[in-house]
Amino acid sequence: MGQTLLRKVWDAHTVRRLPTGQTQLFVGLHLIHEVTTPQAFDELRRRGWPVRFTHRTFGTVDHIIPTRAQERPFADGMAEAMMSAFERNCREFGVPLFDLGHEYQGIVHVIGPELGLTQPGMTIACGDSHTSTHGALGAVAFGIGTSQVRDVLASQCLAIEPLKVRRIAVTGSLGPGVYAKDVILQIIHRLGVKGGVGYAYEYGGEVVDGMTLDERMTICNMSIEGGARVGYVNPDERTFEYLRGRPYAPAGEAFERAQIWWRSMASDPDAPYDDEVTIDGGAIEPMVTWGLNPGQSLGIGGRLPSPADFPAKERQGAAEALEFMGFTSGDPIAGTPIDVAFLGSCTNGRLSDLREAAAIVRGRRIAPRVTALVVPGSHAVSQAAEREGLDHVFRDAGFEWRGAGCSMCLGMNPDRLQGRQLCASSSNRNFKGRQGSPTGRTLLMSPAMVAAAAIAGEVVDVRNDHGRGTGRTRGMDGG
Ligand code: SF4
Repeated sequence: MGQTLLRKVWDAHTVRRLPTGQTQLFVGLHLIHEVTTPQAFDELRRRGWPVRFTHRTFGTVDHIIPTRAQERPFADGMAEAMMSAFERNCREFGVPLFDLGHEYQGIVHVIGPELGLTQPGMTIACGDSHTSTHGALGAVAFGIGTSQVRDVLASQCLAIEPLKVRRIAVTGSLGPGVYAKDVILQIIHRLGVKGGVGYAYEYGGEVVDGMTLDERMTICNMSIEGGARVGYVNPDERTFEYLRGRPYAPAGEAFERAQIWWRSMASDPDAPYDDEVTIDGGAIEPMVTWGLNPGQSLGIGGRLPSPADFPAKERQGAAEALEFMGFTSGDPIAGTPIDVAFLGSCTNGRLSDLREAAAIVRGRRIAPRVTALVVPGSHAVSQAAEREGLDHVFRDAGFEWRGAGCSMCLGMNPDRLQGRQLCASSSNRNFKGRQGSPTGRTLLMSPAMVAAAAIAGEVVDVRNDHGRGTGRTRGMDGG
């Protein structure tokens, strides 16, 4: 009988089975950033341990960096101290660092694939929940905590529980104005935010097979929001073409040899799955979240639910979410006024995302009371977008054009909501306080929907938006 990619990668990286029932897995690539590493490096220093494999460890800065004024020292003393500590640690332990101003700097989950560091069949670890993004290239990628960051720095290994595999097939084809973000929001809506606990999600079906790598990254990125430990797409010709010529991908004959191995790691046609789910891609609408987790979402044509619509154990959470958001059951989500529009993050801060959003805003102005910002996911995305003139498109429309970083995805840098502001966001989490204000409110949606909301000043259906941004760049990765 055949095997899944997860099983093949797992077996190829198993060092030993531990008495706890966990597996000690070798980690092929460890990506680190400034926030989840200080204590880990302190512990190594205290014990006199080196970083085990510096050539498998790469650092970038993303979470705390300002995206407007990036001069040093930062105005925020704590951010400056964290940044300086990270720079010192990378220097002292010999870890390559893509620091501010480096051409490879950017959000950790954007630069891994972009540089060709992320490759099929790899095990990857990073101290950030959305490490599942890298599964888009057929890697098995774990978000880990600070103590595990220490373990991987010291041993290049991770102790981890075995996972079941759920195959999620998205069939048919997506309608105009429906994007990868809508697909993953629909998957989480249907299976629940805890539905994936104990699972790896394998995404497939005609819709996913036809997606670009950028789009697959958006889907895999939010696997963790559905409770899955990892998410992946089997590597295929698109994956190989995406990787060809990237700075850290194998070159020449080594690339051809790698391709043979990469191809062999894909799930076999007769691989057994612990569960299988089919989702009709043609039935997916543009999605918007209305609550406090990414599963609390609805199609743009829908009306806000009543707590009574939910199973008993979810009613209280739904009531609390509606109250926090200031929403009334039965009202349409379309027409909800917004204060802020945020385009960016490791979910949707790639060049293809910015192109789609730019197609919506070109030649128009954002609504007068909306603050709108575009934060490219990496320095390379920023440079490529500027070469295409996208920065002018956004600036002319009234958006702020910022430097690469996590920005308003989370409240760890100066880009934060104020008070009760309501933000249309292309990021991945709508938890209370996520965007920096304890009372701030987040509506997750696709970049095209964010752009349309910025122009209208309220949540709108991008499919009605004069035929703009209806997937015209589909099929094109962002370079
Ligand atoms: S953009 Fe958000 S989710 Fe992604 S790495 Fe940064 S903080 Fe984490």
